[in-house]
Amino acid sequence: MGVLKYKKLTSKRGINLNKDICAYVDLKAGDSVDVTAQDDGTVLIRKHTPQCRFCGDRKEAVTVMGIDVCPNCAERLCAEVIEKAGGVE
Ligand SMILES: [Zn+2]
Repeated sequence: MGVLKYKKLTSKRGINLNKDICAYVDLKAGDSVDVTAQDDGTVLIRKHTPQCRFCGDRKEAVTVMGIDVCPNCAERLCAEVIEKAGGVE
């Protein structure tokens, strides 16, 4: 188990993360985080990593033109776009 802190939400439901928690997971001011609400009431905050919006892959996904996509889905997407647009000249 890493670092556990008790925090209260601000009046606008915000949360400030302590310096030691941020240092523990190498989070810096301005970094993006993923916030996930789970059925059991758990709210998970993790350092943002690109997640393919099509298959959910987190290992190879990258952000391109504002979309997180993995190489496999990008290849499939590219092929389908070319096919539907009438092929490459
Ligand atoms: Zn994918």
